[in-house]
Amino acid sequence: MPYEAMPVRPIRVTYRCDECGEGEMVNPKPDWSSSPFQVLHSCSNCGAEKTFTEMLPTIRYVKEGELLTMDPYEPEVVELPEALKT
Ligand SMILES: [Zn+2]
Repeated sequence: MPYEAMPVRPIRVTYRCDECGEGEMVNPKPDWSSSPFQVLHSCSNCGAEKTFTEMLPTIRYVKEGELLTMDPYEPEVVELPEALKT
């Protein structure tokens, strides 16, 4: 299988607190022995705790011209600069 390379665009992904709607989930405390992987986070504003299967905030990559969709999150609409549209 030959190598393939393509340009990608990094997108920072955060999770807004379900409780207060103000802060974002930060301060990840991973449980390395869990399966599936569990990471406890706390809200930067109210301190509410929530568990995710990844550490947040995180960076995801999309191909240029492609939009980021996140399951189970709502799709994030990203407007590309004209120069990056293909
Ligand atoms: Zn909060």
